[in-house]
Amino acid sequence: MSEIEKEYSRRYREKHHDEILERARIFRSNNKGKIKKYSKKYYDKSKDKYSAYGKKYREEHKEQEKARLHKYFLENKDKVLSRNKKYTIENMEKVKARQKKYDIEHLKEKQEYRKKYNILHKEKRNKQIAEWQKTHKEQIRNNKREWRHTPRGRSLSLASDYERRARLKKTSDGSAEKWMAEKLLLEQQGQTFICEYCKKEFIMKGNRNFEHKIALDNGGPNIRSNLCISCPPCNNQKYLKSPAEWDEYRVKYLGHVLEEKPANGL
Ligand SMILES: [Zn+2]
Repeated sequence: MSEIEKEYSRRYREKHHDEILERARIFRSNNKGKIKKYSKKYYDKSKDKYSAYGKKYREEHKEQEKARLHKYFLENKDKVLSRNKKYTIENMEKVKARQKKYDIEHLKEKQEYRKKYNILHKEKRNKQIAEWQKTHKEQIRNNKREWRHTPRGRSLSLASDYERRARLKKTSDGSAEKWMAEKLLLEQQGQTFICEYCKKEFIMKGNRNFEHKIALDNGGPNIRSNLCISCPPCNNQKYLKSPAEWDEYRVKYLGHVLEEKPANGL
């Protein structure tokens, strides 16, 4: 195109600006399918170029991209969430596999994060756990039972039984065994017992309901003054909590009332 032609064309466009736009608009609306097809064809042909360009741009503008995505998310929260949900449902297997891969690759980080989160949100977390335990008793029992039947579960529980017995022996002074034997005798005679913690009456089942106030696993000794009788729900929920942690927990989440301790502290 010569300079004169270019100039002519420029003037023409200037003069007929609106008319050209209108014509283009009509053309577009009359040829929607064709344009779409052509665009797609062109995009497919240049896909690599576009995605490389996009990737490079995103890498060079990380902060802006993050802010932009966040802004978009805030403005379109419902849309984004429902789109994500739909995607997850439609691609369940893919999502699960990806999640699993990510979990394996980021195990340490996730554990660290969870640990930090649990410390920061201790109250919320404890409340959630207490609620969950209350509504999933059957499931917890089944899971435990199943776990003990897996090879790992079996060997771990055998090992911990062994360790437990060793620890019991090492820290005993005889007072615990004597006291437990008395209680077991009473149990056999049909006596019911009162739980040390919730004060409810219950029927003992062998030596499972003897409770070490300071858990053996935490270095508590197997002596009379470290022992009490507690019902299965209390026993399960106390688990490895220290006496102070357990008192705090049960007052807050189980509605227990702490009794006044006698002056000698026993
Ligand atoms: Zn109890």
